[in-house]
Amino acid sequence: MRDSIRVRWTIVPLTAPQPWLVCSGCGGLKPFQASGKTRLNANGRKLDAWLIYKCLACEKTWNRSIFERRNVRDMDPVVLDALQSNDPQWIRREAFNLDALRRSSPRIDEFPEVGIAREVQHEPPDWTKLEIELIVPLPTSTRLDRLLASELGVSRSRLQALHDGGTLRTNPDRADILRRRLKTGTQVTLDLVTEAGRETFAHRQRSLVFGSG
Ligand SMILES: [Zn+2]
Repeated sequence: MRDSIRVRWTIVPLTAPQPWLVCSGCGGLKPFQASGKTRLNANGRKLDAWLIYKCLACEKTWNRSIFERRNVRDMDPVVLDALQSNDPQWIRREAFNLDALRRSSPRIDEFPEVGIAREVQHEPPDWTKLEIELIVPLPTSTRLDRLLASELGVSRSRLQALHDGGTLRTNPDRADILRRRLKTGTQVTLDLVTEAGRETFAHRQRSLVFGSG
């Protein structure tokens, strides 16, 4: 549509999830933080790999298995290379592996703070609609309404009213989407033509698109 400015927001959670485990160093259930390091062990042709965590209270380490006794021949060369070179991107992705963490710990703390990289895809001269595409490469506990409320400077109840009234639309279009976690590929369209919309958003348009500061 010619009257829509299209922007892409890439959402990057700032802190990796923290599993709670019984710490053998200081005793009791404590949160552990991913250290950003891995360990790779070779035993003949079999490999073991771990992601290393540290107790936040005493720094005692806990090794979370990434895989065990994997034959070198069966290894994805990309994974092997990442482990051998301590690739920080790959390690960061693994630190956000919630499924694996849930198998090791009954309690996982997640952190809603995110960074946003904004990219304008298409900017017609007289745009009246804002289309935001969300790219969410890592799982984040942030809800869509929380993100939009902080970025648009409106309350979550106001967002719900805009959604109910059709000024704010989403794709996929589901009634509870505002209360759900951010999902990659979600599109949010905000119609700025209505008086209410103008009043609320006009002065923030540049920051909506380009970020504040
Ligand atoms: Zn400890």
